[in-house]
Amino acid sequence: MGREFYLDEEHRGKAFRDYPRLTLEENEKARVYLIDINPETKRPKFTVEFAHFIKGAWYILCPGDYKTVLEQGADAAQCPACAVATGEQDEPVGIARRRFACHVIRYHMDARGKLLTPLAGEVLAWIFGDDKFNKLLDLSNEYDLVRRDLMITCTGKKYQKFDIAPGDEKNCIILRPEEPVKVFRQRVIAAYREDKLEDLTPLLGRRAEKEILQRLVSKAMGIMAAPPIEEGVEPIPPEEAMAGLFDVAMEEGEQAPSAELPVAEESPVPTPAEESVGTEVQPGTAEPAVAGEPVDMDKAIEDILGPQ
Ligand SMILES: [Zn+2]
Repeated sequence: MGREFYLDEEHRGKAFRDYPRLTLEENEKARVYLIDINPETKRPKFTVEFAHFIKGAWYILCPGDYKTVLEQGADAAQCPACAVATGEQDEPVGIARRRFACHVIRYHMDARGKLLTPLAGEVLAWIFGDDKFNKLLDLSNEYDLVRRDLMITCTGKKYQKFDIAPGDEKNCIILRPEEPVKVFRQRVIAAYREDKLEDLTPLLGRRAEKEILQRLVSKAMGIMAAPPIEEGVEPIPPEEAMAGLFDVAMEEGEQAPSAELPVAEESPVPTPAEESVGTEVQPGTAEPAVAGEPVDMDKAIEDILGPQ
């Protein structure tokens, strides 16, 4: 007997590929906060896997041994893709590259780059490779990234090349002490808890049995047409279906659908200024609303981490 289902929101189908991502247009700016935080180290955390980009099949997780691939660049004994990839540009089977994922809060800004009032934002997944991870690592050696926003400028849309700079520590929006920000923070945290993916791995690549991966590799290399895969070989779908599932173009900068956080409907401090469009909260220059009152950033971070 089948599973009984109702027209409840909780049963709505969720395709992970639809999960909203951070992608930017050429020269577009974004201000984001790395909200996945390791509760022990209080440092940003990421999910990482090696994956191969395979023509016609999107990214497939490398079944090789992580350490072997890390140290030798490939694990040909364990992975049919590693066995053929050479690293040449535009080859049908790419070498194993690390892909990282994390959740970010992206603050909404107007066309001039000013934060909206009241504050608004959205929870997004940010997927990137070694170049951005190394940049974040460099920044983290100098700055506590849990207490800073990141100011991002897209310098190349096709490969989502970003300039990344740390924001000012006193001006990490989500940690600011003002009442309207607290309301925003609570909404952000609620949305994050509700919408975050417990496992970001599916955004990094599909997991495929070695035999299936071999077929995808052979097909991409043009060595042979992939034979049809028998019915019932779940959970790996046939490669045709996989190719359809993942539009390659989407990976290189297509604007993902965004799941917007509702803006604060009722600001505790309504002011006439909030009526006018484009009025900015001026975190860059403004002192904390209550002069002299220390910003309890630890408390704010605890809020984000929640009960452990
Ligand atoms: Zn591999």
